[in-house]
Amino acid sequence: MALGAIIARAGEFQPLNIALTAWGLAKLSYKADVAFESLCVAAAAMMDRFVPQNLVQTVWACATSGYRNDDFLQAVGRVAKRTIKEFSSQHLSNFLWACARLGYREDRELLRVVSEESIRKMNEGSPQHLSNIAWAVSQLGPDNFPGCLESVVKVTSARLHDFDAPSLMMLSDSLFEAKYGEGRREPLLDMLRKRVLQMGAELFTIFTQYLPPQRGVATSSQIAEYQRSLRSMGLVTYGYEHTNDLFAKLHLLTGTGWNAKDAATLPGWTSNARRTTVARQYVLQVGTDTLDDPGTIFTSAFASAAEDASCDFIVTWLGQGKADSPNVGRAGRSGDAECRAILDTHHFLRREMQTKGATRVTGSIAFHSSGVPCLSCVGVAAQFQRCYPELHICFTFVQREQGWDSPDVVAALKGQSLLRRLCQPAHLMTCNFLVSSQPWV
Ligand SMILES: [Zn+2]
Repeated sequence: MALGAIIARAGEFQPLNIALTAWGLAKLSYKADVAFESLCVAAAAMMDRFVPQNLVQTVWACATSGYRNDDFLQAVGRVAKRTIKEFSSQHLSNFLWACARLGYREDRELLRVVSEESIRKMNEGSPQHLSNIAWAVSQLGPDNFPGCLESVVKVTSARLHDFDAPSLMMLSDSLFEAKYGEGRREPLLDMLRKRVLQMGAELFTIFTQYLPPQRGVATSSQIAEYQRSLRSMGLVTYGYEHTNDLFAKLHLLTGTGWNAKDAATLPGWTSNARRTTVARQYVLQVGTDTLDDPGTIFTSAFASAAEDASCDFIVTWLGQGKADSPNVGRAGRSGDAECRAILDTHHFLRREMQTKGATRVTGSIAFHSSGVPCLSCVGVAAQFQRCYPELHICFTFVQREQGWDSPDVVAALKGQSLLRRLCQPAHLMTCNFLVSSQPWV
């Protein structure tokens, strides 16, 4: 259906049509605020006829497309409070996720009602549902959800073996952000933490024992073994609470770091979720010369698999990287801003050492990233550190996950043929932790 027709005829739609149309637009990454406005106006007028499935689907679509309409959300809140008992655990988690994404916390009564129902149905939730709930609570304010995080932790710790690594990392970061358990003994939280720290120990082994020498020196089996073991972790990042610890253990926090405010004022710095920027500064000694970089910005861009394969440092494909457009296919991790900044420094240092006949580089270098670096880039930083062991490196980042993309509502919609035509098979979530995340279709 043409966009104009949606805009003109939204008032004639049934709740199901509204939900499916909104969902399709969101799924196609279609930035169509005017169409969403028509759909929301129509939906608000007939909100009492919306069943939970259509209601959640429509709110989810608005959140995914970043469209917030308060009249619509107030109508949603009114009906959700009345029908909350009919919400499944997936409805509850997707609904909360959407409220968090839209920053809709004005209706505190609504949050309380959803919180209570979520607690009642916590045992029915999948790991993805539980980690989404925890994330939403951390964003909307834990005070609005009394007892909810306690319930998530209780159910999670009882079912720890069900949890995949990405859900556990998302949960761990959300609890950290919500300051859950701060200043008190929390045995159940310790259980979760123990599992996360085990993953950290495995990562440390990969970034030390399995870390391959540079391209040209490393054998293909060394490279393959390193990449395989990193991918087998099933994670894209080690989350924002724990990546710092990993950096400290890998001697990547020994230098003087950026003042985050200074980095953010450099021209070209971005907080756009689809891209990353890295600020670099250094004072280095190569031979008898002192070299100074007061601040350079590097930005993520698309890199092909061939570029990954020829990068001087070994990069690992961990799922979709940052790309100019999500439709250009597989984006290599050598396009990540962190990798670009490190590689640029490496090429520059090699040139300088060669011209000056120097064998050592000393001094201090700082990198500051606009988001949590992925594990491929952590590995690149570890390789860089090993190349220049006398350098004091300080690698910091903004505590922000890249791309908290939406949990998919497809799983709840099987059998609706329009959906099958609109999308590829379901993947549960496309958050950046997931190795299996796919670009939007
Ligand atoms: Zn990266």
